[in-house]
Amino acid sequence: MTTTPSDLPVLVAGGGIGGLAAALALVRQGFRVKVLEQAAELGEIGAGMQLGPNAFHAFDALGVGEQARKRAVYTDFMVMHDAIDEYQVGKIPTGEAFRQRFGNPYAVIHRADAHTSLLEGVQASGQIEFVTSTRVARVEQDANGVTVHDQHGNAHRVRALIGADGVKSVVRQQFVGDEARVTGHVVYRAVVDKADQHLGRPQLPPGALPAARRRAVQRGRDLPQPRNRRVGRDRGQPGRSAELLSRLVPESAPADRPAQKLEALGHGRP
Ligand SMILES: Cc1cc2nc3c(=O)[nH]c(=O)nc-3n(C[C@H](O)[C@H](O)[C@H](O)COP(=O)(O)OP(=O)(O)OC[C@H]3O[C@@H](n4cnc5c(N)ncnc54)[C@H](O)[C@@H]3O)c2cc1C
Repeated sequence: MTTTPSDLPVLVAGGGIGGLAAALALVRQGFRVKVLEQAAELGEIGAGMQLGPNAFHAFDALGVGEQARKRAVYTDFMVMHDAIDEYQVGKIPTGEAFRQRFGNPYAVIHRADAHTSLLEGVQASGQIEFVTSTRVARVEQDANGVTVHDQHGNAHRVRALIGADGVKSVVRQQFVGDEARVTGHVVYRAVVDKADQHLGRPQLPPGALPAARRRAVQRGRDLPQPRNRRVGRDRGQPGRSAELLSRLVPESAPADRPAQKLEALGHGRP
């Protein structure tokens, strides 16, 4: 019996949030799916993520809306503060009126919980083959399908390939050939246990923010910066934050009065 391309599975490179979502979507469309994941175990590291109403629509379409809803944390506001002087730069109501308008809530969720919700859907489908500890190394494409070579020397003959192998994608590298671009922005994230929240605001250990700022500055300096960066009043300019931080918070000086330094640069608050 000969194997025709339509008998072959679709291969998804990477078992992160993108890869699992793609695998679930494909199975729901009747495709056979194989996921190759380089890590020994499927799992997500990281901190919190925001889920807009559209994310819940997407979870519903993949059949895992309820799993995600039960793990999410719902807030009545989205509040943004300046990382340097804590000035409140925005507050968006995300309460009942917002939920009614968009048909789903705004929520936050731990990245691992979003991943687990998708993983449960994948496991419940019973139709997705997972191969862990297997890194996609190289891809060959011809008129009838794709051959995916892994790092162990195995060749996987598949109908199509979806590259969901992250920001340093081997698949993208082979077909597009561009480098991952570093913007110069550095993000420090943390998850605060509900039990440690007081009056709706997490109590950080004394000195945590200045220490994080100093580390951010150090990391910002270590990172390759984009070319033609313009440093100044344009807050949206790539590279601006790391540059501004490195001006404001010299490593040797405690970052205890950033607001005054901001004023000196013309970024003072009313
Ligand atoms: C600081 C930060 C905050 C964010 N906040 C939000 C948010 O609030 N809301 C939101 O929706 N999104 C947010 N995002 C974006 C979101 O996290 C990412 O878009 C998403 O996690 C990307 O998932 P992915 O599956 O494409 O990639 P990844 O999560 O990187 O997964 C890639 C997977 O592929 C595997 N892999 C890599 N190379 C290979 C290979 N060659 N062969 C086999 N396997 C391989 C990896 O081990 C990994 O498991 C944020 C991102 C960052 C950096």
